[in-house]
Amino acid sequence: MTDTDRLTRMERLLELTRNLSATLDEQTFLQSLIDVAGELTGSEAASILQYEDASGQLLYVVVPWFQREALLDQRVPITDSLAGQTFTKGAPLIVNDVQADRRHWKGADQATGLVTRSLVAVPLLFKGQPLGVLEAINKNGNAHYTEEDITILETLAAQAALAIQNQTLQRRVQSTYEELAQLDRMKTDFIAIASHELRTPLGLILGHATFLRETIAGDHREQIDIIVRNAERLKEIIESLANMDNVQSGVARLRSRAVSVRRIIEEVAGSFQSEARGKGLTLTINAPDEDLVVEGDAGKISIALSNLTKNALAFTDRGGHVFVTAERVPGYVKVSVIDDGIGIPASDLPRIFDRFYQVETHLTRRHGGMGLGLSVARVMVEMHGGRIWAESVEGRGSNFSFLLPVDPAQADAASRVFF
Ligand code: ADP
Repeated sequence: MTDTDRLTRMERLLELTRNLSATLDEQTFLQSLIDVAGELTGSEAASILQYEDASGQLLYVVVPWFQREALLDQRVPITDSLAGQTFTKGAPLIVNDVQADRRHWKGADQATGLVTRSLVAVPLLFKGQPLGVLEAINKNGNAHYTEEDITILETLAAQAALAIQNQTLQRRVQSTYEELAQLDRMKTDFIAIASHELRTPLGLILGHATFLRETIAGDHREQIDIIVRNAERLKEIIESLANMDNVQSGVARLRSRAVSVRRIIEEVAGSFQSEARGKGLTLTINAPDEDLVVEGDAGKISIALSNLTKNALAFTDRGGHVFVTAERVPGYVKVSVIDDGIGIPASDLPRIFDRFYQVETHLTRRHGGMGLGLSVARVMVEMHGGRIWAESVEGRGSNFSFLLPVDPAQADAASRVFF
C-alpha cells in the first residue's frame, strides 16, 4: 500500500468521524459507516451485528442495502460462528479461508446466496464491554486481510459502538417514558373512577347526618357534628381529586365574567377566620381600596386562594401571622398569601406544585392533605392564563403569589412583556 493510499484512508476515516456529531440519526450514520468499512478494507460487504440480551445471540442490525431483505434482523449463534467468536473473545479475527473453517456459520450465506471466502471482524467495545461485532467479507481479488484492515475496522468500531450505545439509551429513555405515560394514565383513570364512585355514598352520608343533626338533641349532637365535619373534609378531598381530573380530561371550563378579586379575598379570608382564631393565628387582608376586577371564574380563583390560605394556616405555628394581599401590576392583579410559618426547604421548593408532592413523607406527616392543594391551585391559575409561584425560607415562612391577567385575551401579549 502506498503512502497516498494510506492518506486517502485516513481522510475517509476522519471525514466519517466528523459526521458522527453532525448526523442526527444513528442508523444513517451506521449505514454510511459500513459503506466506508467496506470501501477502505476493499471488501465486498461489511455489516454490524449487535448482541441481543433476550435471545443471547448476535443480530444483524446494519447491513448493505442489497442484503437488507436477506440479512436484517437475522440472528447468528454466539457459539458456532466467527462473529460469535470475535464477540466472546473481545478480540479481532482474520480468516482468509472461511469455507474451510469449522467455526463458520452458514446461515448468512444461505440467506444472501453469497459465498463468504474471507472475513475480518472486530468487536464493538463500549467502556471495555462488547456490544457487538463489525465485520467485512471477501477482500477484493482474493487478497488476504491484514493488520491494517483490523486497525481501520477498530477505528470505525469505536465510532459504531458509541452510536449503538446512543441508540440503546434513546430506546431505553423512550420506553421508560412510555411506561411512565402509561402509569400516569392509570393513575388518572383511577382518580377519575375513585372520585366519581366516592361522591354518591358520601353525599348520602352527609345528607342524612345533616338531617340527623337537626333532629337529634342532647348527648348525641357532638358525635353527629364529628361525622358531619369529617364527611365534609372527605368531600373536600374528593373535590380536589375531581378538580384535578376535570382539568386533565379537559372537562373543566372557565366561566369567565368580570369578577372582583377584592371580594373573593374577603370571602375566602372570612371563611378561614374562625379556623385561624382557633389555632391562635392572625389572618389579615391587605389590599387597596378598589375592586381589582379581572375577567375570570370566581369559583376557580376562590379554590386557588383557599388552598393557599389553608396551607398557610396549616404550616404556621400558634402565634403566627398570615397575610392575604392583592395589588394591581401592569396587565395583572397579583394575589399573595404570606405566612411566617415553618417554610419550605429549598430542595423541595421546585416540586411543591407537582401532583401528590408533599414535603413531609406520609409517615412523618403531622398535617392532613394529599399533596393536591397546590397543583389544583396551579391549574386554576393557569386556566386563567396566569402564573403561580412560591418563595420560602425554611424556618422563616413562605410567600405564595399568583398573577391573574386583567383581560385573558391580552394575557399572551402581556406575558411577553411582564414575565
Ligand atoms: P397538601 O394538601 O398535602 O398540603 P399541597 O399541594 O397543598 O398539599 O402542598 C404540598 C406541600 O407543600 C405540603 O405538603 C407542604 O409540605 C408544602 N407547603 C405548602 N404550603 C406551605 C406553606 N405555606 N408553608 C410551608 N409548607 C407548605
